[in-house]
Amino acid sequence: MEDCIFCKIIRKEIPTELVYEDEKVIAFNDINPEAPVHILIIPKEHIPTLNDIGPEQKNLMGHILWTIKEIARMKNLQESGYRILTNCGTGAGQVVFHLHFHLLGGKRFE
Ligand code: AMP
Ligand code: ZN
Repeated sequence: MEDCIFCKIIRKEIPTELVYEDEKVIAFNDINPEAPVHILIIPKEHIPTLNDIGPEQKNLMGHILWTIKEIARMKNLQESGYRILTNCGTGAGQVVFHLHFHLLGGKRFE
């Protein structure tokens, strides 16, 4: 996707604070953090929303969840706790239409 901001991040056309990268996913700090730790985990494949996941992406989804857990461990969040969320669709507040998971931590959530 030419004009997708997260695809541009994947192609390194926009700088970010990279947290993790492998052949399937990358993770980087959210530019507008809502918690002391606020990391976005995204597939390298352009998938607009969770609604667009097909059966062929089931393994990728497992890999993303595994990656989130590993990043939480790297950031020492496993004891204190952390939250993951994805906004699916405009009505849920999705702004960037490239599937992403927010990893939030470093504070106490109500
Ligand atoms: P959402 O509302 O779930 O679509 O969240 C999009 C997120 O992307 C927001 O938390 C933004 O702060 C974040 N964001 C947008 N542009 C960038 C960027 N260039 N680098 C890092 N995070 C970004
Ligand atoms: Zn994209």
